Amino acid sequence: MTDIQDICASRTATIREAMALLNRSGVQMLLLLDDDGRLQRTVTDGDLRRLLLAGRELSDTLADLPAIHSVTAPESVSRKTALALMDEKVIDHLPLVNADGQVVDLLHRRDVGKQILLSTPHMGEAELQFVEEAFRTNWIAPLGPNVDAFERELTDVVGIAHGAAVSSGTAAIHLAVRMLGVRPGDRVFCSTLTFAASANPIVYEGGEPVFIDCEPGSWNMSPAALERAFGAARAEGWMPKAVIVVNLYGQSADMDALIEICDRHGVPVIEDAAESLGARYKGKPSGIHGLMGIYSFNGNKIITTSGGGMLVSNDEDLIKRARFLATQARDPAPHYQHSEIGFNYRMSNILAGVGRGQLQVLEERVLARRAVFEAYRDQLSDIPGLEWMPEPDWSYSTRWLTAFTLDPAVSGLTAGEFIKRLAEEMIEARPVWKPMHLQPVFSGARHFTHGNEPVSDRIFETGVCLPSGSNMSPDEMERIISSMKAIFSGR
Ligand SMILES: *Cc1c(COP(=O)(O)O)cnc(C)c1O
Repeated sequence: MTDIQDICASRTATIREAMALLNRSGVQMLLLLDDDGRLQRTVTDGDLRRLLLAGRELSDTLADLPAIHSVTAPESVSRKTALALMDEKVIDHLPLVNADGQVVDLLHRRDVGKQILLSTPHMGEAELQFVEEAFRTNWIAPLGPNVDAFERELTDVVGIAHGAAVSSGTAAIHLAVRMLGVRPGDRVFCSTLTFAASANPIVYEGGEPVFIDCEPGSWNMSPAALERAFGAARAEGWMPKAVIVVNLYGQSADMDALIEICDRHGVPVIEDAAESLGARYKGKPSGIHGLMGIYSFNGNKIITTSGGGMLVSNDEDLIKRARFLATQARDPAPHYQHSEIGFNYRMSNILAGVGRGQLQVLEERVLARRAVFEAYRDQLSDIPGLEWMPEPDWSYSTRWLTAFTLDPAVSGLTAGEFIKRLAEEMIEARPVWKPMHLQPVFSGARHFTHGNEPVSDRIFETGVCLPSGSNMSPDEMERIISSMKAIFSGR
């Protein structure tokens, strides 16, 4: 913001004084104010030039400039409205006025800043080298040395024996579901509080998802609800083919408790660690606890290949079979021979190069996201009715997205209203995932709750995710935090 005293003039100022002021100010205009500080018009170089051409002297005053309507906005104007006004009027500066019509500030287009997004890709330094290597050696294929190296390097980082790099996290889940033999009519248990990609692959195979509620302490699959679902299955004489456990927003579910239940019923676990690469459960990396785990490298995730995923397991046969299915299920024959239906799911050698570079900065990215969460927590915890997503003792979360719930009875704002208010300030916040059992596409699906009331419904109704990118600048953090303080203090 400019100190507006430096660009204000009255009608008694001379043309020479006005020109000198313009020359010093660095802004292409002056604000001509009346005695009460109200804006009469803006004055540009061109206005002064036209006065001189019309025969005025440098020592004449601005008294003859006609009053014209100038665009102003109230001082409380939102960034979004201010920017829309500047765009509409094709101006770069917007005088802000108080209730009495006095000019109190001048908003510059550059101060309005950019939209702050929820989670954006954050490249490191090595990605381009790996990609260049792929170009140089003409390995532009869905196979190649970067793919092999990425699989090796990632499985080393998380401490598991084998991994198959594929085109998306969804593809990895699909391969896992397929390999566990899900057929039409089979049921699969799946966390309800998640992104649709956790559950869709069940339906690709004709299976039927049965949704499991979360527990309030971790926002992840409730062992009590899972136990209840197995109880019902037993009583009705069926068993699910698999259980898909999601680690929400970078936080592990209580894997020991969940796996103990699944083991007891002899049902394998697929760990959906799409959001939790780099997280830990009881000190062990997230994604390696079930029979198979999956990671996502979509553009908004902790690290990205723009799009991609990986299926991991300690069972070599499963990963070999995943690679086979992901490359069109080609039989080992000199001609093209197929004995079953395959998929085109392998990751390209170029994108694996991006992944290798990203893997080098994984730990930094996790620390940065945790620092984003800590900044929010340190500065915003006294907002009444706001509760951060808890982090149990056994969890080291990536805080992929900083999430909280808002009690409207205490805060005076619903989550939806709050998200709209932030949008007015060009800050993207989102509701927590809408639970799968509430999705129209899964309206017929069964659902088992943690207690009498579904926990996930309440988290969905009151939950908010804040911008959490590891590449947010301190200025952007400050903008979000001060906007939130203003919203909650009623300004
Ligand atoms: C992103 C995501 C997926 C899907 O990963 P893609 O790589 O986008 O296919 C699956 N599950 C969860 C929980 C996710 O957040």
